[in-house]
Amino acid sequence: MRNSTMVEVRIKCPRCGESLMDEDRQIDGHPSICAEGYFEGNRGRIWMSSLYGSYNVESELDVPEGDVTEFSCPKCGESLNSTRSCELCKAPMVPFGFAEGGVVQICSRKGCRRHLVEFSDIRAELRSFLDSYSAFF
Ligand SMILES: [Zn+2]
Ligand SMILES: [Zn+2]
Repeated sequence: MRNSTMVEVRIKCPRCGESLMDEDRQIDGHPSICAEGYFEGNRGRIWMSSLYGSYNVESELDVPEGDVTEFSCPKCGESLNSTRSCELCKAPMVPFGFAEGGVVQICSRKGCRRHLVEFSDIRAELRSFLDSYSAFF
């Protein structure tokens, strides 16, 4: 069966393994992915669409395009920004775990859509679907 509906991904913290899905805060009609952000002395929640390929984001932080946000887990408080840097803009990449297995790394710079998907044992059909996308968030 084929349709044009985007796949909803379930995301967990790569550090503590807790789900980052916020069932109460919906974006694109689906539960969002909730992370904590830190920018210029302010801390706030960031909600990202869980639909792969959607860039819809809501945030308590007012981050201008081109600036870098420090991401952390709202559950364990650990920083999520990694030492790996974006190939395009050199900002730190931020890893998020797929509940099904595998990791997606997104760029922490607002407006940069670089992402990397790294699979371990993610379901094959989800993998081929995600491989066909070149953009995330
Ligand atoms: Zn955590
Ligand atoms: Zn980047």
